[in-house]
Amino acid sequence: MKKIGHFIGGKHVEGTSGRFADVYNPATGEVQAQVALATRAEMRAAVENAAAAQPAWAAQNPQKRARVLMKFVDLLHRDMDKLAEALSREHGKTIPDAKGDVIRGLEVAEFCIGVPHLMKGEFTEGAGPGIDMYSMRQPLGVVAGITPFNFPAMIPMWKFCPAIAAGNAFILKPSERDPSVPMMLAELMLEAGLPAGILNVVNGDKDSVDAILDDETIQAVGFVGSTAIAQYVYSRGCAAGKRVQCFGGAKNHMIIMPDADMDQAVDALIGAGYGAAGERCMAISVAVPVGEDTANRLIEKLAPRVEALKIGPYTAGNDVDFGPLVTKDAYTRVKGLVDKGVEQGAKLVVDGRNFKMQGYENGYFIGGCLFDNVTKEMDIYKTEIFGPVLSVVRAKTYEEAIDLPMSHEYGNGAAIFTRDGDAARDFSTRINIGMVGINVPIPVPLAYHTFGGWKKSGFGDLNQHGPDAFKFYTRTKTVTSRWPSGIKNGAEFVIPTMR
Ligand code: NAD
Repeated sequence: MKKIGHFIGGKHVEGTSGRFADVYNPATGEVQAQVALATRAEMRAAVENAAAAQPAWAAQNPQKRARVLMKFVDLLHRDMDKLAEALSREHGKTIPDAKGDVIRGLEVAEFCIGVPHLMKGEFTEGAGPGIDMYSMRQPLGVVAGITPFNFPAMIPMWKFCPAIAAGNAFILKPSERDPSVPMMLAELMLEAGLPAGILNVVNGDKDSVDAILDDETIQAVGFVGSTAIAQYVYSRGCAAGKRVQCFGGAKNHMIIMPDADMDQAVDALIGAGYGAAGERCMAISVAVPVGEDTANRLIEKLAPRVEALKIGPYTAGNDVDFGPLVTKDAYTRVKGLVDKGVEQGAKLVVDGRNFKMQGYENGYFIGGCLFDNVTKEMDIYKTEIFGPVLSVVRAKTYEEAIDLPMSHEYGNGAAIFTRDGDAARDFSTRINIGMVGINVPIPVPLAYHTFGGWKKSGFGDLNQHGPDAFKFYTRTKTVTSRWPSGIKNGAEFVIPTMR
């Protein structure tokens, strides 16, 4: 059985805890590797290693740090096929989608090549007589990232690229479900010229997360995962005096106005609702058609498209729309929620529960499911399902429609499909959600903007990637400087003001 250890101090090291988690191939249900779960002592050793390496890295000029990322981008392109295959084998998503996962991380690496510009401070000449004032951004030291299973390439890169570009050393605790790609990324960073000890991957579960949260050297923690754990990491990390940003779950609504181009809206819903088997924090899981006629037209066009979805293992190539769910637990949970939706009275227009993949009977495949007549009280509406299940909630008016995402506890993404500029503008202005799409179903901001949800989808005050990431992973120092002539004026007892 293949064993996956940790990557510490620029080397692969074996786990010493004796505890392992099984890593499955979700398409076959077979255990394909075992990943070590770190002890507190192993985490501490990684942190000490990182702390020793960090000052020399921070002292390199920012252009030199940027050059490591330039090379890293080239290496990602070189190894794209290998990375995508490893990613699909552990996650289950299709190869083109796995490449998308790598590329959306690579784009953040590209953005971070601008670190010399992003780290520039501010300067005021003559802030007082003979006084200049300037502020600079300095790295925090050792920082950490805790990441989810659903984007095992993209989200680790969202975290470590800006942190490392800014001069920090990084501890990555990836998901124990698909740990291979994060390890490969660390190897590539080393090959790109990153000094040993600046990027460490420590595999583990709750014990390793707690070790990060309690560690006195780690200055900042970036987390992405489910809301309950996000809230836990946020409160425990903040209580320990760290800088913490946590991104959680989602329930993203798409409103379809009566004037929307229905073919465009249906295409959008199929991709955004069922791509990656719905295991995306920006997946659309609720469609809200406005008016009975819009709803009837939507269901009529959507149902055959959901029935025609092509499901299969990543090895089937480009001929597959989405693959299996990540684990047996995920499969049981999603199926259980669909059962609950039926029990609670929603109309299951397309039932994917009995889908079986020939030759892959032990894989975690579930077919696309489409619910109509879903209401706010149902569990399938309140819960993040994280599976290929789309719920249609019918609204009589635009006001009723916008009220749904606004009163939902999550606030990651929302979209409106319309030809009316006024409705779109009203929607984007009023909605209490972090990322908004206008005729765009998955409004994931590009690397040079920032990514983050509101309400129970995000805890902390700065977003991921874009300029916010450099604020999060650096702190400001402001210097007030005077070079006197050498004549002493004596002590001043009144606080200096600029009157
Ligand atoms: P998860 O919360 O189970 O795991 C996330 C991380 O937390 C993993 O590294 C895991 O090892 C760790 N963890 C798990 N249980 C823990 C515990 N009890 N104590 C401490 N740490 C623990 O999430 P997941 O299933 O890997 O990912 C899916 C979730 O992530 C979904 O809710 C999805 O919406 C969310 N997500 C959010 C965003 C975003 O930016 N908002 C992006 C991607 C995924």
